[in-house]
Order: sequence, then C-alpha cells, then structure tokens
Amino acid sequence: MSNLSAPHFHDEQAAYAYVEKRLWTQGAVCPHCGGMERVGKLAGKTTRVGLWKCYQCRKPFTVKIGTIFEASKVPMRLWLQAMYLIAGSKKGISSNQLHRILGVTLKTAWFMSHRIREAMRSSDMPIFGGDGGAVEVDETFIGQLKGVPKRRAFHHKMKVLALIDRDTRQARTMVISDVNAKTLMPIVLDNVAREARVMTDEHSGYRDVGKFFAAHGTTSHGRGEYVNVEDCTIHSNTVEGYFSIFKRGMKGVYQHCGEQHLHRYLAEYEFRYNNRSALGVEDTERSDRLLAGVVGKRLTYETASARA
Ligand SMILES: [Zn+2]
Repeated sequence: MSNLSAPHFHDEQAAYAYVEKRLWTQGAVCPHCGGMERVGKLAGKTTRVGLWKCYQCRKPFTVKIGTIFEASKVPMRLWLQAMYLIAGSKKGISSNQLHRILGVTLKTAWFMSHRIREAMRSSDMPIFGGDGGAVEVDETFIGQLKGVPKRRAFHHKMKVLALIDRDTRQARTMVISDVNAKTLMPIVLDNVAREARVMTDEHSGYRDVGKFFAAHGTTSHGRGEYVNVEDCTIHSNTVEGYFSIFKRGMKGVYQHCGEQHLHRYLAEYEFRYNNRSALGVEDTERSDRLLAGVVGKRLTYETASARA
C-alpha cells in the first residue's frame, strides 16, 4: 500500500480528524474564547465537515482558524497531500507541478505552496554552538535584485546567509541586505554562543569574529584552501554543501524568485534539511512536523500574491 493511500489524503472527514488530532493535542479548543470544556462537534448531513460549536461563547469554529488553512476553500485532504509532497521532495515542487498533481488551478497551487513554506518557517531555535561546538557561517548570492543594474561582483544579486551547527547538524538561513561586517556581525552575535568555534572563509565581513567568540577558524578559498592545512576541523564545507543543494533546487525547480519571497524558499530548504532522513526523520514524521507549524502562520492572499 502506498503512503498516499492513507484515508486522510482522500476522505475529508478523515483529513479533518487527522489535523485535529495533531493540532488539538489536549482536545478541541475554541479559538474565540479558549474554552475546552463545553465544545461539541456538529454532525448531520448538511453540516460542514470539521465544524464544532462552543457552548460557552456560542460560536462555531473549525481547526482551520488561526492557521495557514484559514479562509482557504481548498479541501483539507488536498492540503495534506500538498504538504506530504512538498515535505518529502528533496528539491521542492513547483507550483505548476502541484497544480497538475492536485488538480487545483495554478493560482491556487502557487498560493498553497507559499502558505506551506510559511508553515515551514521555524519560530524558535536554540542558539548555535553551545558547549563550544563548531558553527560554520557563509554567505552566497542568488538570482537578481529587481531594478539594480548588473554590475561586477554581486551588487545586483540577492544575498543569503547560512549558519550550520556542526554538532546538532541544524541550519539557519536568512536573506541579508549586504555582506559587510556591519550587517553580518549582529546576526552572528545573535545566533551563535560566545563559547563557539566559528568557521568562515576569509571574507572581510568576518574579520572581528575572533574578538567575540572562543575561536575563529578561517580557510582561504581564494587560495584554493578548503580545509585548513594545520587543523582539518577548520572548514566551511558543510555550509557550502548546503548552498549547493539550495541553489540546484532553486535553479531546477523554482527558476524565478523575487526578493520578497526568497525568505519563504529559504524556510522550505531549511525545514527539509533540519528534518532530513539522515537525522532519523522520515517522510510521514516530516510531514507531521510541518503540520505542527501551520498554527499562527496566517498569510493573507495580498501578502502572498504581491509579486512586484
Ligand atoms: Zn468559545
């Protein structure tokens, strides 16, 4: 039996039950008044699937309220299919492919995938490099900034920073406006423990790292040095590898991406990396973790569709 033959991917009742079980771990909660005691599921042939009523505040509700599913007419079972596919594909799935697989319009597929990426955005992550661990930091350039003329180097490109904790094997990525020390240092200081050993290349934006952290190891990519000759633990190969997966995916699957959406694509790759099978997280578990992220991540149609 294929994983996609599970009832919650096909039956709307089962789909709601699946989501309710995972989002209401202590039982149904009224989103209007927080009540849990006097809530009841509404049944009946004409009743909307997944509808509950709170007898404390007298208001109806569903598990969709306050999540990325709110105000969406897409059936829950299709949301679950989409999430399973996106969470399970190595490089991502284009809106066009999602549109063909799910049988929804291209516009709907595009909107769904952006909302799902929003659910992939991690809200709280512990600081990297605690206990004196190694943290790799590197930046890369991708695509093109709108309205910035193509010049030498990277001025016209979008800029991304990535940090990888080598002990927990977790990544954190973000869009940055510049690659100078003024931009980079506050981010590194905010995300990395002072006792960490920080690994970077010789980029001048990292020149002050040694003043704040236990150690600063550098390699000179300019001289073709990818692992420090004296100390083989000094390298940024993990983060380089991360960027190569990200770039191959962006190029092959998503092709065009404006800067206003880049943070969501970053969240998508980061989510899959931090919940990868090499860390013991398999497809169903990954997709359930994604489902746990739908809460409190509303995204209005206007925000998602603002394609400048
Ligand atoms: Zn209530």
